[in-house]
Amino acid sequence: MAIFVDAATLPLVAPETRPMPGQIDHVTSLPNRRRFIADLPLQPGGASRVLVLLTLADAKHFNEILRALGHEFADHMVRAGAERIAHLLPAGCTLYHVSVLSFAFVTVTTSAEEAARAPAVVNTLVQSFRRPLLCDDLPIVTRVGIGVLALPALINTPAENLRAVLAAAQDSRRGPQGWAFYNRNTDEAHQRAFQLLSDLRQALLHDTELSLAYQPRIDLRSGRAEGAEVLIRWAHPALGSIPPSEFIALAEATGLMVPLTDWILTAALRHMRAWPPAWDRLKVSVNISPSSLHQANFAERLGTLMSAFMVTPDRLELEFTEGTLTSSDAAVTDQITQILALGMTVAIDDFGTGYSNLDYLTRLSAQVLKIDQGFIRTMDQDPRRAILTRAIIDLAHKLGYRVVAEGIETHKILDMLKACDCDEGQGYFFARPMPEAQFRDWLKSNLDGAPPGELSA
Ligand code: C2E
Ligand code: MG
Ligand code: MG
Repeated sequence: MAIFVDAATLPLVAPETRPMPGQIDHVTSLPNRRRFIADLPLQPGGASRVLVLLTLADAKHFNEILRALGHEFADHMVRAGAERIAHLLPAGCTLYHVSVLSFAFVTVTTSAEEAARAPAVVNTLVQSFRRPLLCDDLPIVTRVGIGVLALPALINTPAENLRAVLAAAQDSRRGPQGWAFYNRNTDEAHQRAFQLLSDLRQALLHDTELSLAYQPRIDLRSGRAEGAEVLIRWAHPALGSIPPSEFIALAEATGLMVPLTDWILTAALRHMRAWPPAWDRLKVSVNISPSSLHQANFAERLGTLMSAFMVTPDRLELEFTEGTLTSSDAAVTDQITQILALGMTVAIDDFGTGYSNLDYLTRLSAQVLKIDQGFIRTMDQDPRRAILTRAIIDLAHKLGYRVVAEGIETHKILDMLKACDCDEGQGYFFARPMPEAQFRDWLKSNLDGAPPGELSA
């Protein structure tokens, strides 16, 4: 492949400086990211400049191309992409190859109106990349993302500008127009997620920020506690309380869910071990995310942990969502079989939110079905919800499941569920999730005969 741009004649915006060794990308011969970082502060000022970054494909797509067609071909594709962009750029505009798949340039908008819409070249690029790139006579469909950042941005360094415009390029894939302005809000959300992940790693090491909350589960016929669900709590030193709905998904998307689940199980077993023998009949229910079941030895390690804390398997219930339990992955099925063989109970959590084919209920060996609070909380206002809930309870009973209603908030809903012959309930009407010490006090009163609901926080 011919060298795409002669490095010596690059049309730099700041022509007084020539590219130094190490400032040229070897695939496209364009000035690289180091050069971009050096050039950006030197470029002429003015309120109408915008930084544009185009990414040819997302990492997954690029890896598929690499795997199918190899590195040489991928290099051709990157060069073809660079060539297409370069042909569309306004005269005097330098194109930089800033990472394997990304190209950046600074351009000037002709009017405030154009700046508000993004420069014309951006729309030209969007249109142009709707056509496949021709590489070695093979048409390759690209999935470009284009980010636009008005300069000078309220961002200090050229590297930060580049990171921000890359964030915009990634955001653009979620919208219909093919490009996106840098958006501080979505960027801050991503940065928060990143911060939370690194802080969670620290929290797991220090043991002072994470704790367990227990929410009682009540037998609806006797009004007595049957057990409790364990829910993780994180008191972040700077950001305050972080809800599990925010950090569990992040941990699940990275490798952190495995040590987090270990932490939760160990802390719960430590508590259970210290409880009086009279509470041995109480079941503790722990939420388990899918990644745990992808560990080949999860059930075995759990068995060992329970022996170490002298807690018998019949005292532990593991909650999985429908999506996890219906997985066709042999490794997951194998772990669930082992969990049941060890004598633990398996519960289907958030039932009714998964849009699953109901046939799985006949194949699964779970014993407990927890109806999602989305059905329960409004069943007194929506007669159709109430009909559906009654039908779910009947169906589950006929298939041999014990049924738990989540999210009971009022006496009226409790009465409706009792009339449907629901076995157990959990919700703010009885008690909110509470720290372990408070849960012990709550439990003493409940088991001594105080009617459920009286002690709810
Ligand atoms: P989940 O397993 O369905 O847990 C029930 C959630 O509903 C809890 O929220 C609980 O506080 C809340 N809740 C209980 N009763 C009521 C009620 O009457 N009204 C309302 N509005 N809400 C009620 P939380 O603690 O914020 O947890 C949210 C989700 O995060 C959990 O849903 C679970 O999926 C996940 N999660 C929480 N702790 C853990 C954990 O230790 N491990 C894993 N893997 N996931 C967890
Ligand atoms: Mg749960
Ligand atoms: Mg649930």
